[in-house]
Amino acid sequence: MSDFVIDPPAQISLAVSGTSARFPVRRVYCVGRNYEKHVLEMNEGADLRDPPFFFQKPADAMVHDGATVPYPPMTSDLQHEVELAACIGVGGANISVAEALGHVACYAISIDLTRRDLQFRAREKSWPWEMGKSFDCSAPIGPLVPASVAGHEVRTISLSVNGIERQKSDTAHMTWSVAEVISKLSEQYRLEAGDVILTGTPEGVGVLVPGDVVIATATGLPPLTITIGDPA
Ligand code: MN
Repeated sequence: MSDFVIDPPAQISLAVSGTSARFPVRRVYCVGRNYEKHVLEMNEGADLRDPPFFFQKPADAMVHDGATVPYPPMTSDLQHEVELAACIGVGGANISVAEALGHVACYAISIDLTRRDLQFRAREKSWPWEMGKSFDCSAPIGPLVPASVAGHEVRTISLSVNGIERQKSDTAHMTWSVAEVISKLSEQYRLEAGDVILTGTPEGVGVLVPGDVVIATATGLPPLTITIGDPA
């Protein structure tokens, strides 16, 4: 006799480079805005010193390297946002900037897939962002690399579509560093091991259509390749 009235869902987990052991995912947090030129391309005249804000995607929205992502429903403006992901290995609340990077177990490159038309409609109506941001398969992520191997250095991140570069920047251009993002987020939520944080995208976000092959890269990390498929 099972202790559950239905079969419990499987633990979501991510591949870790160099080992068969996997990283179990608890929550996926995302930073709403974090690179100056992207903030301005989304919102002319924005105050760049506004504190970062956060939203979540469901853990089971994560998809793996090599996956085909079905074109999502209810949109005609699917867009890519390449982002460095920091994966938390040690939890905590009110984490100081100085100690924040010590909480990171792994890094990976990821894509914050966005239904931009639904995000903008939500913004106009002061609705939450969920329907623009938190749909099924909206969080592709590449293989993780332990921070002990990858280090915490500044990385160049980039994204190409069908071999043509769309986004390229450097994590030094973040308005809030990875350490500051972790510190600020931990004021709002107690972070736990298994939390994944997508740290915001640089400028150059753009449209994806079925058939597109998307490659996201970060120096020192394995690349992530996905294909946009037909609607499910
Ligand atoms: Mn984003």
